[in-house]
Amino acid sequence: MGKKHINPYDVAIKQLEIASEALNLDQGTTEILRHPKRILSVSIPIKMDNGDIKVYPGYRVQHHDSRGPYKGGIRYSPDVNLDEVKALAMWMTWKCAVIDIPYGGAKGGVRCNPKEMSLSELERMTRRYVSMIFPLIGPLIDIPAPDMYTDSQTMAWILDTYSQIRGYKVPGVVTGKPLHLGGSEGREEATSLGTVFCINEAIKDLGLKAKGATVAVQGYGKVGWNAAKLLHEIGYKIIGVSDSKGGIYNPNGINPLKVYEYKNKMGSVIGYEGCKTVTNQELLEVECDALVPAALENQITENNADNVKAKIIAEGANGPTTPKADQILTEKGIFTIPDILANSGGVTVSYFEWVQNLNRDHWTKEDVNQRLKDKMIKAYREVYRMSKKHQTNLRTAALVLAVSRVAESFKTLGLWP
Ligand code: GLU
Repeated sequence: MGKKHINPYDVAIKQLEIASEALNLDQGTTEILRHPKRILSVSIPIKMDNGDIKVYPGYRVQHHDSRGPYKGGIRYSPDVNLDEVKALAMWMTWKCAVIDIPYGGAKGGVRCNPKEMSLSELERMTRRYVSMIFPLIGPLIDIPAPDMYTDSQTMAWILDTYSQIRGYKVPGVVTGKPLHLGGSEGREEATSLGTVFCINEAIKDLGLKAKGATVAVQGYGKVGWNAAKLLHEIGYKIIGVSDSKGGIYNPNGINPLKVYEYKNKMGSVIGYEGCKTVTNQELLEVECDALVPAALENQITENNADNVKAKIIAEGANGPTTPKADQILTEKGIFTIPDILANSGGVTVSYFEWVQNLNRDHWTKEDVNQRLKDKMIKAYREVYRMSKKHQTNLRTAALVLAVSRVAESFKTLGLWP
């Protein structure tokens, strides 16, 4: 992590300004897009297992909805704060626009430490949170999904609480549900699979070969571990992975599945056989063809960007690179596939899930994955073309594409009254 605190909302605003300038966007539209449309802050009271009462701060931020209902995950973490949720909501607006699905952007979060809470405490907190943001969400209004430390079980509680209050089952109110409750095939791996499609394209664009190409993955949660697994399956060589406690490195290659089993048993990837222990910072600096930051925001900063040796960075996490670091990476010629493109596979399959729910339909995994592939490659190629046209890096190109799509919808709808 960088030494000084970096506010993700400042990063998001800076990115919007870069895109607005590149697009010559009018002042009024830029001004509208700077601000989230609606913010709900709640204080969630929970009876803990020991009888104590605790109150957790929670948020739901809706950034913009010109292109469709609000969409975005809910995260549980001790670091959640309003500015972080505002940034993540704005990034959802751009993400849905880049991948071209008919949604706006939102995000939710609760400041808590899920690692220290029991399952029943988490259930009570989730249900109470849903009851408190109830007026804001709905299948045609704002559709939550998983994010950091929330999963398909959390989504099942959201579905149930919302449906209990409504009086009937509303599967389309949330995505990332378990399969037997209206979840979609392929949703678990979707974010990672989308990242893999992007890396495959980048490898081709740089004239490299996928087979044997070396990869380091920061973060071994759902996104990081699935990315490592999928890349390994198609012949990439995983040489380093990490989790919140630290990382492991072996230039001869690591079997991600065995590391996953090891981590489940031991609580961390550290100590896995035949590997050197490295810090999370050292992992970001290993020599490799592709680096996948799939953990937290602000991992690649002005303090370490110069040490990054990867040829490609594919951002599985939201906001892992600061604007100053971005500049350094661009000067170094590192090919960075930005978060709003590289991790958009998750929300894309969320969209497929929602479409299936609204139509009471169920698609096969092959169908879902093929549709995801088509969407990802199309978006990647559009961003790549845009970067050539504007002579910019992929991040600016993706932002320009996203902001222009959102601005066009907004302008056509007009400002009422
Ligand atoms: N939380 C994920 C993201 O940041 C998924 C959001 C969704 O599926 O709505 O993209």
